[in-house]
Amino acid sequence: MKLNELTAHELRDLIGEKKTSPQEVRDAVLARIRQTDGQVKAYVRLSSNAATQEPSGGCAMPVPIGIKDNICVTGEPTTCCSRILEGFKPPYDATVIQKLKESGAYLIGSTNMDEFAFGSSTENSCYGPTRNPWNKDCVPGGSSGGSAAAVASHEAIWALGSDTGGSIRQPASFCGVVGLKPTYGRVSRYGLIAFASSLDQIGPIAKDVEDCALLLGIIAGYDERDSTSADLPVPDYTKALVNDVKGLKVGIPKEYFVEGIDPQVREAINAAIDVLKKRGATFYEISLPHTEYATATYYIVATAEASSNLARYDGVQYGLRRQPVDTRKTPLIDMYEETRDAGFGSEAKRRIMLGTYSLSSGYYDDYYLKGLKVRTLIKQDFDKAFQKLDAIITPTAPTTAFKIGEKTDDPLSMYLSDIYTISANLSGIPAISIPCGFSKERMPIGLQILAKPFDEAMLFRIAYAYEQNTPWHKERTPL
Ligand code: GLN
Repeated sequence: MKLNELTAHELRDLIGEKKTSPQEVRDAVLARIRQTDGQVKAYVRLSSNAATQEPSGGCAMPVPIGIKDNICVTGEPTTCCSRILEGFKPPYDATVIQKLKESGAYLIGSTNMDEFAFGSSTENSCYGPTRNPWNKDCVPGGSSGGSAAAVASHEAIWALGSDTGGSIRQPASFCGVVGLKPTYGRVSRYGLIAFASSLDQIGPIAKDVEDCALLLGIIAGYDERDSTSADLPVPDYTKALVNDVKGLKVGIPKEYFVEGIDPQVREAINAAIDVLKKRGATFYEISLPHTEYATATYYIVATAEASSNLARYDGVQYGLRRQPVDTRKTPLIDMYEETRDAGFGSEAKRRIMLGTYSLSSGYYDDYYLKGLKVRTLIKQDFDKAFQKLDAIITPTAPTTAFKIGEKTDDPLSMYLSDIYTISANLSGIPAISIPCGFSKERMPIGLQILAKPFDEAMLFRIAYAYEQNTPWHKERTPL
C-alpha cells in the first residue's frame, strides 16, 4: 500500500520505527494531489511551502493535513471560498493551527468549501464544486466537502472541517470517512472565520476512528482567546478505543425514521444497530418530540448570526474593494454596496437577507426570539433522553450523495437535507459520523452517534467497536 493510503497512526508508527520519514509521507501526498486533484478539486490552493515544510514542533504527528479554507493560517490566503475575502492573509494562526504546528503536522493546503460554510454540497464555492471521489457526478456533501473528499481520495492523511449544522458529518457520510463535531466549547474557535458563533465548532475528518480520536486530542482544550471554550481537561481519547459496548444504553429516535429517508439508508442503519446489539449494547426507541422544528429553528438562528457576522465585510478592512464606477452622491455607501454585491455569491446574499429580516424590528420577536425558545426545547429533548441513555444513533443524512446540480435551484430541498445533523449544533452536543455501508450504486452511507456534552469518549467507544467489527473503513474509492 502507498504511504498516502495509510492512516496517521500507522504512519506515526512507521516513522517511529524509521521505516519511513515525514518527508516521504509529505511527498507521497503531494504526488497523489498532483495525480488526482484535477478530477476531485478538493483543494483550492496548496500551502506556499507545501513542498518544503519541515515538522515544526515535538513531531508527535508529523503527517500532512488539509485545512478548510475558513481557518486562519498566518500569511496564507484564507478566503472562506468567497470573492469578498480575495487577497486576505491572516496575520495570526487559529488556535487549532498553532496546536497542529506544535504536534509537527504539515499544513499541506486549503480545502474547498461552500462560501462561508453556507451549504450542504460544496457547490457554493467561488472556486467551483468539489467532486465526490466515489462518483465524480455527485457532490461530496458540504460545507467541508473539500476536506472530506481529500481524505477519501487519500490526498490528505486527515483534515480539519467546521460544523455549524452538519458540515463535518454530512460530507464525511457522503465520502465514506469519519467526521466529528465536538461539543460546543470543546475546541477553540479563535481564528475560525465566523458563520454562526453560537453553533460553529472545528472538528476532525479522518480515515478511521482512532485517527479521529487522535486529531481531536490535538486540537481540543481551553483557550483564553475564545471565551466560549470550556475550561475542562482533555481526556486521552485513545483510552476509549476498547472494542467493548457491553451494557451501554442507546436510543433510536422514532422521529428520525420517517418519510423521506432512503430505504437503503434505513437498512444500513438497522444492520449497524444489529452489529452493536450483538456486541452487547441495548437499544431503546425514544422520542425527541421537537425534531420537526429543528430545520426551521436552525435556519432562523444561523442566518441571523450569519447576517451579523458578515456585516464586517465592507471593503474597508478585509479583502475585496470595489469602487463605484458611476459618480453618485454617497461614495462610501456606494463602495460598500458595490463591494458586497461583487463579493458575495447568491447563497451568502440569501442568508444575509433572511437573517437581517428575522432580526429587524417588528419581526425579531416572531422569528429570532421564538427561534431561541424552540432551540431550548430541542436541547431539553436531548437532556431528558440522556438522563437514561449513553448515546443516540441515527442516520447522518437521509440519502447518499446527490448529483451535482440536483438541488442548486431549490434551496429549500438543500436545507431539508440537513435534518439529522442540525439538532446537535442547536443543543451543543457532540456527534460523530462513521461509514456504515454502501448503496447499490456504491455510494457510502453514514451512521451518526450522539452523546452527552463533553462525552466525545463515548462516541469513540461505540464508533470504534462498530468499526472493528465491520469492513467499511477499509473500502477504497475507484480513483
Ligand atoms: N448545511 C448547513 C447550512 O447550509 C450547515 C452548514 C455548516 O454546518 N456550516 O447552513
